Amino acid sequence: MKNSTSHKTVCSYCGVGCGMVIHKDPKGAITLEGDADYPVNKGMLCSKGKTLNYVAQDTTDRILYPEMKWSKNHARQRVSWDVAFKRGAAVFKSIIQKYGPNSVGMYVSGQCLTEEYYLANKLTKGFFGTNNIDTNSRLCMSSAVVGYKKTVGNDAVPIAYADIELADCFLIAGANPAWCHPILFRRIEAHKEKNPKVKIIVVDPRKTQSCALADLHLQLLPGTDVILFNAIARWLIEKKKIDKGFIAKHTVNFEACKQKAFELSLKQAANLCGVPVDDIRKAARYIADAKGFISMWTMGLNQSVIGVDKNVSLLNLSILTGQIGKPGSGPFSLTGQPNAMGGREVGGMASLLAAHKDLGNPKDRLAVQEFWNSGPIQAEPGYTATEMFKALESGKMKAVWIICTNPVVSLPNAKLVERALEKAHFVIVQDISHNSETTKYADLLLPAAGWLEKEGTMTNSERRINYLPKVLDAPGEALPDAEILWRFAQEMGFKGFDYESAAEVYDEYCLMTKGSNIDIAGLSHERLQKEGSFQWPVPHAEHPGTPRLFTDQNYYTLSGKVQFNAPQNLYNKSETTSPEFPLVLNTGRVRDQWHTRTKTGKVKRLLTHIPQPFLEMNAVDAYVRGIKEGDLVVIKSKRGTVRAKVNVNYEIREKLVFLPMHWGKILNQDFSRANNLTHALVDPISKEPDFKYSAVQVEKYKKA
Ligand code: SF4
Repeated sequence: MKNSTSHKTVCSYCGVGCGMVIHKDPKGAITLEGDADYPVNKGMLCSKGKTLNYVAQDTTDRILYPEMKWSKNHARQRVSWDVAFKRGAAVFKSIIQKYGPNSVGMYVSGQCLTEEYYLANKLTKGFFGTNNIDTNSRLCMSSAVVGYKKTVGNDAVPIAYADIELADCFLIAGANPAWCHPILFRRIEAHKEKNPKVKIIVVDPRKTQSCALADLHLQLLPGTDVILFNAIARWLIEKKKIDKGFIAKHTVNFEACKQKAFELSLKQAANLCGVPVDDIRKAARYIADAKGFISMWTMGLNQSVIGVDKNVSLLNLSILTGQIGKPGSGPFSLTGQPNAMGGREVGGMASLLAAHKDLGNPKDRLAVQEFWNSGPIQAEPGYTATEMFKALESGKMKAVWIICTNPVVSLPNAKLVERALEKAHFVIVQDISHNSETTKYADLLLPAAGWLEKEGTMTNSERRINYLPKVLDAPGEALPDAEILWRFAQEMGFKGFDYESAAEVYDEYCLMTKGSNIDIAGLSHERLQKEGSFQWPVPHAEHPGTPRLFTDQNYYTLSGKVQFNAPQNLYNKSETTSPEFPLVLNTGRVRDQWHTRTKTGKVKRLLTHIPQPFLEMNAVDAYVRGIKEGDLVVIKSKRGTVRAKVNVNYEIREKLVFLPMHWGKILNQDFSRANNLTHALVDPISKEPDFKYSAVQVEKYKKA
């Protein structure tokens, strides 16, 4: 159509980061299609991505102007941006003055753009003077961050999607890419279709849709992953299927890994994992025979009280076989959110500093402080996601600023989160829509521009940085998140926030990375717009980007070698089951919903797949409780209850039940939220919550 325009961007749902072309007609209406030239998806889009144009154009539930409560007991009223900034800044200042900087904090999101993440981090750590900034990405990948740091010396995903087509063995553990990373899974599927000898091992206590492609499904007992990976390591060592030359030349700490792997015999391990010993041997053989071996994992390993141990024991398998730093091989943690990686890069977590600098290192802290011309940065990590809401509940923290996330539905032990927000002196919620259950708690509600209504960058799971253009005007008075952050900082009187565009923020961040192992000094919005996406590092303006890390076998560790780590815990430390709560609850995702459904819940077509929450339960567990397919059941834990219809099958392990995490309150009734049930135990190092193992009971629902 005449005067129509086309704009290249990336999908704002999952970490796969598919390229899209948005077509805008002269009246401003948009359609979209997969970008056939984009290396990630080559034109493909999944069911969620295909419908993003409906979400982007639906303004029915949008927050259109700032709203504020003049006091706790009053309803929010519409105010101008000037009043919102003045009051917000004044309240934050007075709380910091009275209770100290650690009495405030920010809780942000893996859906924020890199520029927004960078500014939130700068404002909090450099100028509020607290490290209390954490993100919902803490809930999905912080165990992987620690695993990489311990192994390769920093938070660096070594491989590229292009390695998929070069590999001949995949171990997919604690992940269901067929539903949660569909386009990536489609690439694996196409690769296997062309090369039937490619082996796929799936490790999961549930028989998920990804198992359809598996040569071997290791349906282990929940929480036994470390034992399984150690058993595979033991077989590889015993059968001399390890890369001795690589280990001798490029690794340290092999003996510690070996000792741990030999603590249990294969038979003992198989019994503890609940899988046949021959299947462990078979998996090990597939890995040993592979020329290119890729391990892929996500929440099933990360969301655990022993998430770091699960990560390092899996990473050990790549190192033992020398399958890292070469084409078609390497460990590959998948990110859940579109810019979880960007957030990690700018240090948008309570335990990180920008540009992969180390919060615990005084020189690094000083370098960042000098770069920002800020006050001193505290050495101690701030409150992480679950700690932050506990601190609000206990009164240690007084104010929180929540950006682009819905913790009332997504955090574990949701009732505690509600109590925390009720108790807080001051809550700022900055979001696009009233669909988020968290907006209810806002003393100050700030309307943000959505995807397509602002510009900036994101990094996908393979370190690929992409520019996202502004295509539409934001409705009402909504502003880009970056502008809200810099104007708030200006109102607080902080110097160094006089930006005029997101491009300026990005230039500052790129400069900060100079000389670091994540160096992107060669990038700018302009270059990304002109030349397309790049994988970091990109240290100068002629640099083509870096698809694969460690090809020279130089690692970021002090020794320069890749490090084996012996997992500290073989055995799971999650909540224990009891006669009262004898079943293990695993929560997770379904194909056509995203997070807490604030966006996907608006698309009718996506509701046709799975329209309501369900409980998946083994037929034996159902039988002994008198439960039949389709019955309404009550799931109970020490913390609360949920009601759902039951899906009975033999595909989930006995004593394990599965509940999707997407649904919040329905018609204001609190019977669907999975996090009514979950506990808030976390991995002691990564502080990632354990969403995969809560003790519950299930009963047939009886009307009172
Ligand atoms: Fe979007 Fe992920 Fe689907 Fe790609 S796979 S279209 S990034 S949701």
